[in-house]
Amino acid sequence: MMRVRFAPSPTGYLHIGNARTALFNYLLARRHGGRFVLRIEDTDRERSRPEYEQALIEDLRWLGLDWDEGPDVGGPVGPYRQSERLALYRDAAEKLLRENAAYPCYCLKEEIERRRVDAGGDRSEGYDNRCRTLTEAQRRQCEAEGRKPVLRFRVPEQAVEVQDLIRGRVVFESGVIPDFVIVKSDGMPTFHFAVVVDDSLMGITHVVRGEDHLSNTPKHILLFRALGAQVPQFAHMSMTLGPDRTRLSKRHGATSVRAYRQAGYLPEAFFNYIALLGWGSAEGQEMFSREELIREFSLERCNRSSAVFDPQKLLWMNGVYLRQLPSEELVRRAVPFLQSAGLLPDQPAPASLELAARALALEQEKLRTLQDAADRLDFFFREVSYDPEAVAKYLDAAGRQVLAELEPVLAGMEPFDRRGLEESVRAYCRQKGVKTSAVFHPLRVAVSGRTAGPGLFEMLELLGKDTVLRRIRGILRQG
Ligand code: GLU
Repeated sequence: MMRVRFAPSPTGYLHIGNARTALFNYLLARRHGGRFVLRIEDTDRERSRPEYEQALIEDLRWLGLDWDEGPDVGGPVGPYRQSERLALYRDAAEKLLRENAAYPCYCLKEEIERRRVDAGGDRSEGYDNRCRTLTEAQRRQCEAEGRKPVLRFRVPEQAVEVQDLIRGRVVFESGVIPDFVIVKSDGMPTFHFAVVVDDSLMGITHVVRGEDHLSNTPKHILLFRALGAQVPQFAHMSMTLGPDRTRLSKRHGATSVRAYRQAGYLPEAFFNYIALLGWGSAEGQEMFSREELIREFSLERCNRSSAVFDPQKLLWMNGVYLRQLPSEELVRRAVPFLQSAGLLPDQPAPASLELAARALALEQEKLRTLQDAADRLDFFFREVSYDPEAVAKYLDAAGRQVLAELEPVLAGMEPFDRRGLEESVRAYCRQKGVKTSAVFHPLRVAVSGRTAGPGLFEMLELLGKDTVLRRIRGILRQG
């Protein structure tokens, strides 16, 4: 059975690139009836934080991913948090030591660098394998000096070939990998070691991860072999770049899933969009439901070239998904945004929800995010905050004159509905021989504070006669 994993480090919020890795693993597992494992790689004690693990889990769940095994749901080959697996790494390290596949190294970083420079090389070239050949007596001497050893893997002299499921055959020549550290002097495993021990003990069959890990793969393969473990298949996905084709980073604006979630993106839109980062259907289709993606996803259709994250396209796609939401669903999703904008209380009364539903319906076609809803519709829920430019332009003497004349017309209207409002206001324009724009704009600005928004008459109807008259009178009083 296929077993895949997503192995984030809890050192920050879930990044778009990592979310994509998680998604591809998830799709693969669901497509092939496999198991999707979440493993928390928290061996970097300084940078890992439980809050970030919690946040990762929340954001993954928000995206609609679920996993069959993980720190929160358990599973047969746990624990699923590396910090709780230290005994397993110790056992594996002891095995390698016993078999002479690893050895203690007492060199300090500065010593290694100095030797490199003295030998006429670059100090970052890496380790010269000096402690490989220490005698027992030399080791004891080092220990007596109080040196705490790291454990290094004795890298075998052999080329390593990776049959990558996305990139094809990649060969790493022999002799280019120095003996690398697998256990640090504080006893903690290094990234390479922990990943391999875990992937082998967790029975991972396919390692699907970012291309930045391709260069680590020969190390991993050699370690799998040394541990006598089955080497999994590898698939390295292309990197995700920003619109300027440099690696996606904070410079490109929001790069965490959380930022998009908080900005009012829908998880299904986000899910759909990131699936297209490095994967595409044969027909070039763009809109996919979760089920379609599970049916269609395959590693063969993953691109080798980098994917470009285009926030504008994501925004567009979010708008498409927003327009497709049934009204009740739109309300359900928008309410938290209206609440955090202070437009609705924690426990909205049915009448407020009804108002929200009707206001949202007026703008649904134009919404691009749920936050947009709060920004565009605030004047339905609280007093208007007037845009000074709109006021200067449309509530000048002529505008006020119009409002003063319209006020009794509107006050006399019964019922106060869209059709009647439109007829009366248009009749007023005809009578006075003024252009509709000279009337519509001041009216719109007076009741909403801005120049753009929902259809004027729908908006007036929903605001209701009292509110409309109160706002118009407020403007006139200020004159
Ligand atoms: N913790 C690693 C990372 O976040 C995962 C490495 C892997 O997938 O093998 O990059």
